[in-house]
Parts: sequence; C-alpha cells; structure tokens
Amino acid sequence: MGDVIEYVVIRGRRYCACSVAVLEMAEAGFKKAGIIPRSASIHDYVTQGGYRAGATAASKGSHDRGGVHDVSYSLVDSDAKQRIWDQAGAVGCRRRSWEFTSTDTPDHGHIIAVGCPHLAKLAAEQLAEIRAGGDGMAGTRKWGGPTPSFTPWSTRYAAFKARQEEDDMPTPSEIAAAVWGATFGSADDTAGARLARVTIASEAAASNTRPIARGGAEVPLRQEVADAKTMLLTQAGELAGLREALAQITGGGVDLAAITAASKLGVEQGLAGAQVVIDFEGGAA
Ligand SMILES: [Zn+2]
Ligand SMILES: [Zn+2]
Repeated sequence: MGDVIEYVVIRGRRYCACSVAVLEMAEAGFKKAGIIPRSASIHDYVTQGGYRAGATAASKGSHDRGGVHDVSYSLVDSDAKQRIWDQAGAVGCRRRSWEFTSTDTPDHGHIIAVGCPHLAKLAAEQLAEIRAGGDGMAGTRKWGGPTPSFTPWSTRYAAFKARQEEDDMPTPSEIAAAVWGATFGSADDTAGARLARVTIASEAAASNTRPIARGGAEVPLRQEVADAKTMLLTQAGELAGLREALAQITGGGVDLAAITAASKLGVEQGLAGAQVVIDFEGGAA
C-alpha cells in the first residue's frame, strides 16, 4: 500500500495521463489530415507503451516510466506527420532500424510527451538532447524534420478541448443556413427560394392578375401564396424549436440574439441566391 499508481492500462499497455492526452489529440489530428481512417483508433498504431521496466533492450530504459510510447513508422515519416505530434504536445522522433546496432529493431516512431513529469531518466535526457538540436539518440546526429515547438501537452490539451466544445456548438450562421437551405423534395426547392417566390408573387399580385408559372406549369397565385405560407409557418416552428433546444443544451448560455440576426441574414441570402422565374402570360418576365 501507499504506492501512487501513475499509469492507466489501454489494450494491455501502460501510459501516464500525459501520453493518453497526446494520443487522443494525435488521433484527432491524423484523422483530420486523412492519414488514418475515421473508424480506426490511434491505439491500432501503437507498438509500445510506457512503464516497461527494462523489458525492451533497444529502448535502453527510455520506456521505463511514462510520457513515452512507440508507433508505426508510417505516423512519423513526413514533416506533416511530425507536426501533428507537435500539435499534440509531443516530439515525434523517427527511429530507423539501422540506428540500432546491437538490437534488431524495426523503423518506428518514438513519441515523447513534452512537459510530462513522469519521464524516465533516459527519456528526459533524450528530450534535452533534442532541445539542443540533436536527434535524441547516442552520437551527434542532428534532429531530422521540422524543429519542434516543445509546447507542453497540457497547453495543447486545453486548447484542444476548447476547440472541441466550439466545434460541437453550431454557429448562428450554420443554423440559419440549415433552416433557409432546407429543401422540399428537390435540391433547388429551398425554404429561401420559396420565400423569394412568395415575395415576388406578392409584388406581382399588386399589379398583375395574370397567371404565374412554376417549373413550366401554371400555378394559381392563391396556391403559390398558400404554399409559401405553409412553408413559413414550418420554418418559424423549426427556428423556434432550434432556439429552444440550444437554450436547453447550453443552460441559457447561447446567444439567441446572434441566432436571430444570422437568421435574418439567412433570409436575405436566400432571397439573393434564389432562382425564381415568374412567367407572365404573353409577356416578358
Ligand atoms: Zn520508443
Ligand atoms: Zn506523464
């Protein structure tokens, strides 16, 4: 009793909380870049975790504690991929088989969490050597790839979580676009286009009594107005429902005025973007 357990076990491998967070961020980064499939887990690519207590001779003790794990070489073999590790608060080292003279070790990525207090002595020394421009291995080889930012994983993780919350919340313009871009049966029959039609039809009604054609077929003005009115009531209901749902999700923290303003803008855009043809019998439109 009394020992503090500082690691978690995922798929039989041990990690400190820092490495778990690095892996979560890296998974999002690699998926966003289309490097690993959406259905995959970053853990599909991990080949060694931490807290290995000398089990791997090639690692010479760098994996004895936390903050360090190995991945497939395919996740470090370009500058862009190394930058994804950097964005995840880690240094992604390329380790080549020919660098390991006394062990048979395949090419792989050796990932060190920046700002992790759980590093084994050798892992901390590797990171210090990389900070000084080296490759983190014995000898004097220089670091290959983009210069790391050495931003701590905890800084990256705070920003990552804040971004996730933002992404989960639809923006007012996304809501407006969804409402006014909602289609009725066909791609060009949008709420915005219907609104535009009734507006133009109303104007036409004020000075014309001749029939209106929609898509080549004659539509009584009364029908056009009725259709549009039905659509407007539906839209008003949907918008009110969205506002209600958002207010509940966020506990009232949502900016309802911003949604209303964006919706008005959406109407204007719907009007501007709508393809409306009103044909007046026997005359130019
Ligand atoms: Zn390693
Ligand atoms: Zn750690």
